[in-house]
Amino acid sequence: MPSPIYKRVLLKLSGEALMGTRDYGLDNATVRAIAQDIKGVVALGVEVCVVVGGGNIFRGVAGASSGMERAQADSMGMLATVMNALAMQSALERAGVPTRVQSAIPMSSVCEPFIRRRAERHMEKGRVVIFAAGSGNPFFTTDTAAALRAAEMRCDALFKGTQVDGVYSADPRKNPNAERYVTLTYLDMLARDLAVMDAAAISLARENKLPIIVFNIHEQGAFTAVMQGEGRFTTVV
Ligand code: UDP
Repeated sequence: MPSPIYKRVLLKLSGEALMGTRDYGLDNATVRAIAQDIKGVVALGVEVCVVVGGGNIFRGVAGASSGMERAQADSMGMLATVMNALAMQSALERAGVPTRVQSAIPMSSVCEPFIRRRAERHMEKGRVVIFAAGSGNPFFTTDTAAALRAAEMRCDALFKGTQVDGVYSADPRKNPNAERYVTLTYLDMLARDLAVMDAAAISLARENKLPIIVFNIHEQGAFTAVMQGEGRFTTVV
């Protein structure tokens, strides 16, 4: 078995990734399948932490567009990510993977608060740490929180699980002529406005020399394969 190319990674899962084919909420089979993939990567000896999104339940911008104060709506969005984090924790534990959830908004009866050094210790012990509530601040996204946590945790790479196997010149599900990029620079991502991660997340990754690996989260085993340098993905450096 090829050895993993990274020792410690952060996986960013959007809310959409947990939704499967549904229009809203969580799809248990999808969450279980992702848990199995994470288990495969942990079995390689890689330390894994996860940032989950909340767009399958609530997005601050949607709340704000219907008249709610943006900061208030963003708090609701962050709470949505906690629900997803708990679902992911359940699925991982059912798969036999030890986990801890740490929330940027303290909720002591539900999960741990975010404490960087404690999270690091969990990872050293082989636990998967799931970071909930994004950055804890409104006007941010969980993509930016993922870049932030990956930098704080000194991860070797940020894995962004998407619906397709990399970054394309156009949406490959709509345009059959769309081309997949094998590598891209952070500046390419910013200049071409490729809708994979927001600009704040890309800038943070760039400043911290954190490679972003974009791969298909729905292809069973892809996370493990990419970790061994196989399969199809895009590397942003
Ligand atoms: N959010 C926030 N601060 C953060 C991260 C997230 O306020 O640091 C809120 C924001 O309202 C966002 C929602 O949480 O719309 C859900 O996160 P996101 O849209 O990034 O989820 P994803 O698109 O990954 O499912």
